[in-house]
Amino acid sequence: MPLEVLQKAQADMLCLPGAGASILEISHRSDAYIEIQSTARQRLIRLLGIGDDYEVLFLQGGSRLQFSMLAMNLMQPGAAAAQYVVTGSWGKQAFPEAVRHGAAEIIWDGKSHNYSRLPDSGEVQANSQAAYVHVTSNETIQGGQFPTDLQFGDAPLVCDSSSDFLSRPVPVDRYGLIYACAQKNAGPAGVTVVIIRRDLLQRSTDDLPGYLDYRNHSEGDSMWNTPPTFAVYMLGLVAEWLEETVGGLAAMHEHNHRKAGLVYDAVDRHPNMFQGHADRACRSLMNVTFRLPSPELEKQFLAGAAERGLDSLKGHRSVGGIRASIYNAMPVEGAEALADYMEQFAQQHG
Ligand code: PMP
Repeated sequence: MPLEVLQKAQADMLCLPGAGASILEISHRSDAYIEIQSTARQRLIRLLGIGDDYEVLFLQGGSRLQFSMLAMNLMQPGAAAAQYVVTGSWGKQAFPEAVRHGAAEIIWDGKSHNYSRLPDSGEVQANSQAAYVHVTSNETIQGGQFPTDLQFGDAPLVCDSSSDFLSRPVPVDRYGLIYACAQKNAGPAGVTVVIIRRDLLQRSTDDLPGYLDYRNHSEGDSMWNTPPTFAVYMLGLVAEWLEETVGGLAAMHEHNHRKAGLVYDAVDRHPNMFQGHADRACRSLMNVTFRLPSPELEKQFLAGAAERGLDSLKGHRSVGGIRASIYNAMPVEGAEALADYMEQFAQQHG
């Protein structure tokens, strides 16, 4: 979380200005909360340039619930199978959830190269009649990220944008549905943003459980049930920070390029010490993943990093190695400190 956001939340924690009570106490039906939620939504609409033909929903259950919910709502009896482009651990986990609800198939799988590269649009033969085509814009664990201008056929493109949401401008109008849990760039865990093209809401059917029917959340202004009020409040503060302090998503993208560039440069300067996991063409600006020549050196690297206050650099338990997650809120000084440390480590142990 950006420091300014935490400070503002702290300053207003006991009594939200104008509300006479804490954000943790007020009703979701109060004017104060309704204003908070609608301002947060408006800020997302401005930041991403979301058109009137899209609905912005604040849901719960994280992105994993969306793995199921989007399939339950968008698959149609008799329609061609939903198609999945599997570029890493998250796409891989999204797919079986869809299979529970209808026909789905994998049309590209990066498994044979250990999810180190992503496909070009031309490499993927998507069916225009598919219920939808599912992609993961940033694979949080392997560290591969698609460019924003990806296009796979004419079927509605569904994007799991959990780990790069709000990190760069996105042409929302190319997508049928974008979803993102908040806890990387947009706020604390507890709220999941779903941006859905309105015509797709018509695919939902009456046999869906109420909470899992997008139409209920759309018709109820994301208050069909009690929304995660604190998480939405924090998301609103992050969106305010992005608009007013950072200056929008293009500016955020530039910062992210700069930060990731510092770390990748350190990787590239010492190819005998650091081996980047993702191909250069698809290197993630959010999750920089690399390995050292041996598990012992990786251990030493992590221990030395921790001594300098550089924490949480251990790669995800499923793939090992090193992962530097440098989300929006990481200041450039954080990336510089890591790059300096990498330089010293390579010189000492090279
Ligand atoms: N997709 C991606 C790309 C993710 O990074 C994550 C969380 N790390 C998830 C899905 C799952 O999100 P949640 O834990 O909110 O269900």
